[in-house]
Amino acid sequence: MPLETVKLTASFRLNGSIPEGLFSTYKEVLDQLLDFACAKGITGFKRLKAEKYHELRARYPRLPSHYIYTACQMACSIYKSFRKLKRKGLARAEKPVFKKQVVMLDDHLFSLNPEGWEASIAVEGGRVKLKLLHGAYHEKFKEMKIGQAWLVKSEDFYLKVVFSKVVEVAMDGKAVAVDVNENNVAFGTLERVENKETRERAIRTAYFLKRRRLQSKPRLNEKQLMAKYKGRERRRVEAIYHRIAKEVVAKAKEIGASTIVMEDLGKIRRKHKKGKSKAINGRLNRWSFRKFQNIVDYKARLAGLNVKYIEADYTSSLCPVCGERLSPNGYRQMKCPGCGLEEDRDVIAVKNLLRRYQMDVGASSVHPEGPSMTTERDEKYERGRDES
Ligand SMILES: [Zn+2]
Repeated sequence: MPLETVKLTASFRLNGSIPEGLFSTYKEVLDQLLDFACAKGITGFKRLKAEKYHELRARYPRLPSHYIYTACQMACSIYKSFRKLKRKGLARAEKPVFKKQVVMLDDHLFSLNPEGWEASIAVEGGRVKLKLLHGAYHEKFKEMKIGQAWLVKSEDFYLKVVFSKVVEVAMDGKAVAVDVNENNVAFGTLERVENKETRERAIRTAYFLKRRRLQSKPRLNEKQLMAKYKGRERRRVEAIYHRIAKEVVAKAKEIGASTIVMEDLGKIRRKHKKGKSKAINGRLNRWSFRKFQNIVDYKARLAGLNVKYIEADYTSSLCPVCGERLSPNGYRQMKCPGCGLEEDRDVIAVKNLLRRYQMDVGASSVHPEGPSMTTERDEKYERGRDES
């Protein structure tokens, strides 16, 4: 079976603080590197390091030297993306400005003990040891390889770490399609589709009412209470997503599937155009649907499954058997005037996703330009993977 490296980024809140000086010194170093890179048009790490390292080392003798390396890396990538924007006419400024409080770490600058969830971070004049605040969902990282990391300062201090794992990727198996809706998730194969209720709308409505009650009376700690409810709402919905995503992946493994098929959400607006929800709800749904898909995506990839996104306009309005336009047939039921099929609309959506997926796979293997098309798609997909 082919091997593939799956990368995931985890974010941990730090139980404690990083000396303020590290962020301000790093920013000074980064700004000088950015100015220099920009003035000389340098996009390569090696050249930037060769030209500026000794000067910066002498100017900041207390800063651990690898911070200058990582600042060179950051400066190159910031300048490169700035130059790209500039060429497209999307950047008005003369030179790139980086305002965030971010410090990049390499393996000399930090180490992580996943057993005790403790990080050791190099700072000016020594190292600090800090506990990482973590949740049950961080458990999976214990068996993964630790890559580079970033320290981020916002209201608290965060450590973002890239973890990777090599998995065997399943080939040529069946596909399981997943259709996500406001209140349920349907998933399965052409033979069998399961329907799981999320009750997300009920949860969101309850929290919406709770927040409105809160706003009706003036309170001193209103802001904190609102944030607390927001957090609870998010965690409740996400816990449901994780549970269902786990079931989807377990099902796929159980039946020997190699691929999870989901809808490309770029097109979701069309699907819900006729819904009663207002624009704001539409945005919320898209956010929720994507969040759920992201959870399925990484759980599937860690389990060695492929993930494909299908552009699926009209997934629930065309017949998965004959392609005829379906008519409503009572509550959530649809009927085909062509072949007489009667089915739940979520089941139809799942079957349509599978049919589109099979059509795509079939088309690329028989079409004369097939192989190159497939490669292109796969490359795009690989790039997407690395970025996540
Ligand atoms: Zn039909």
